[in-house]
Amino acid sequence: MKVLKFGGTSVGSPERMRHVAELITKERRNVIVLSAMSGTTNTLVEIAEYLYKGNIPGAQETVNGLYAKYMTVVEQLLTTMQAKARAAAAITRVFALLRSYFSEPLTEAGEKEILAQGELMSTSLMQCYLEEQGVKSVLLPALDFMRTLDSGEPDMQHIQVRLRRMIDLEPDAELFITQGYICRNDHGGIDNLKRGGSDYTASILGAVLDADEIQIWTDIDGMHNNDPRYVEGTKPVSTLHFEEAAELAYFGAKILHPACVLPAKLHNIPIRLLNTLDPEAPGTLICNSTPDRKLKAVAAKDNITAIKIKSGRMLLAYGFLHKVFETFENHRTSIDMIATSEVGVSVTVDDDSHLAAIVDDLKHFGTVTVDRDMVIICVVGDLEWEHCNFESKVLEALEGIPVRMISYGGSNYNISVLVRRDDKVRALKALSEKLF
Ligand code: ADP
Ligand code: ASP
Ligand code: MG
Repeated sequence: MKVLKFGGTSVGSPERMRHVAELITKERRNVIVLSAMSGTTNTLVEIAEYLYKGNIPGAQETVNGLYAKYMTVVEQLLTTMQAKARAAAAITRVFALLRSYFSEPLTEAGEKEILAQGELMSTSLMQCYLEEQGVKSVLLPALDFMRTLDSGEPDMQHIQVRLRRMIDLEPDAELFITQGYICRNDHGGIDNLKRGGSDYTASILGAVLDADEIQIWTDIDGMHNNDPRYVEGTKPVSTLHFEEAAELAYFGAKILHPACVLPAKLHNIPIRLLNTLDPEAPGTLICNSTPDRKLKAVAAKDNITAIKIKSGRMLLAYGFLHKVFETFENHRTSIDMIATSEVGVSVTVDDDSHLAAIVDDLKHFGTVTVDRDMVIICVVGDLEWEHCNFESKVLEALEGIPVRMISYGGSNYNISVLVRRDDKVRALKALSEKLF
């Protein structure tokens, strides 16, 4: 059994949905995870924003626009009157629910329910289409088995037991369709795995089902060696180690949700990144491959804040680092990069929601400086320390670009540098030119 996930663009139009249907019916009894049609989750976010602001006409107009779009999809995707009627009824139910929020103040639980509708609609449309095509497809509602714990982590045991039971109850099913991204939280309320979370769903399902492979189908032919949104001429990387892929995903390679690699890695299930627009392209295989003495790819993570704490005698002052880290922990803020010296320590965070309180607390231990609008550039590859010249090549490539921090040696797989936002694209291009 394999788990195949199709992203927003892959199911973004009736034509694309038909193409996905063709791809998924080539093999039997796989689990298919679908995202919302592209643009839908953004529109649902917008609707929630209007509702939070009490702007009901704004919400109405946006809901009406989305409804018209989905009715067109129903019309163009399906052929028979029965299938069209079934799909239209499902879509109409979703919009009745959205409209029910016009008359009450929006709560966080309500917002989560609104955000879940994109995946619920894309999967019911696909299910209607497959039924119309005579495919024995079974829709497995993610809200019946996807659950997170109090910590926000997936409840793997619960997911495994429920999902296996649901699959075993359908011995004749040719394939299974389910929603990415959406889940229930530990209170049983509707929740989600954060933006881009369908990749994470696929990896969790692959792990609990002990799948042969997890396939992430998207709009590009695999993980490229640099961010194609900023650098021209990037190329797909054929193989990545789980650790390399995890670093790239965490440090900004949008093609993968940051948490998606871990469940696959723990269960040693290969992830293949494939292109719906070019299904024959080899894509990228992420597995437990042996390192091959190469620098593989570069990614960038935006909106980073650097915080420097200077103290007279930092390293000799026993417990100084502990106090600094404890301050961040007290404010539930995780640290990405660290650099230390005898007189100070610099750290970076991407969540600055508690920054003022953190800085206030840190002032007990030293002089604090904050640099905002920074970017972490992460170079990934076989960076085992005994291999010469890789780190020097990275720094050479960045000649002329001010570097605020460097982090190397934390793993065998990456070197990260912190630069100003304004230098990001220049740095990415320079790295591509010198390294690949
Ligand atoms: P989906 O909707 O299928 O989940 P995403 O938009 O989330 O797709 O991810 C695919 C996009 O990720 C690509 O279109 C590309 O613009 C972007 N991307 C960023 N960095 C990389 C990279 N290193 N390799 C490939 N794609 C990348
Ligand atoms: N639909 C969700 C989003 O747009 C989840 C996903 O596409 O992975 O973030
Ligand atoms: Mg995505």
